[in-house]
Amino acid sequence: LKFTELGLDEDILKAVKDSGYEEATPIQSETIPSTLAGKDIIGQAQTGTGKTAAFGLPILQNIDVNNPNIQAIIVSPTRELAAQTQSEIFRLGKYKKAKVQVVYGGADIRRQINSLKSHPQIVVGTPGRLLDHIGRKTIRLDHVKTLVLDEADDMLDMGFLPDIEKIIEQTPSDRQTLLFSATMPAPIKKVGVKFMTDPHQITV
Ligand code: AMP
Repeated sequence: LKFTELGLDEDILKAVKDSGYEEATPIQSETIPSTLAGKDIIGQAQTGTGKTAAFGLPILQNIDVNNPNIQAIIVSPTRELAAQTQSEIFRLGKYKKAKVQVVYGGADIRRQINSLKSHPQIVVGTPGRLLDHIGRKTIRLDHVKTLVLDEADDMLDMGFLPDIEKIIEQTPSDRQTLLFSATMPAPIKKVGVKFMTDPHQITV
């Protein structure tokens, strides 16, 4: 579909155009309208399908830039993916002017704490470092509207499932949950059942 058919606002569409994206990919065409409608989503998609913009664009649209609280949290398995996701959302949010910060392990926590003082509305991070910040109360998730678990099967393989459950428990129970995974092993399906409400299943 065309990006203009998906219900996106002008400030978002303008950044999409600047990125040179012409048509929405299949995962974007299916995910964007459902996410804007507030649905939970289980998306089976590999990297390279455009899944970052599939969740990033509706998240950006739903951010209230006048609200300084963290409104969306994206949990990623690796620093590389977290950094890449942050930079894509930053680029797509150019006109919306939502603040997005990345936090991952192995980087100076003091510097991250300082940046968090500027009140990002979207935070992308790896599980361990997110929990570290939650424990220090430098990240609070009580105003989160949307939680994304990206590359969930990789997080399972890396042993992050208990950390992920702890992170989810810090978010409001009426949040929207989006889960993306290349494969759907049983423990990931269980996360879907336990933490999601009537999820819309998308496979590309
Ligand atoms: P992802 O699957 O999110 O890692 O995206 C893979 C690559 O495709 C990234 O470099 C994106 O910037 C790019 N991309 C995402 N959506 C589109 C689109 N609709 N048209 C062209 N390129 C895109």
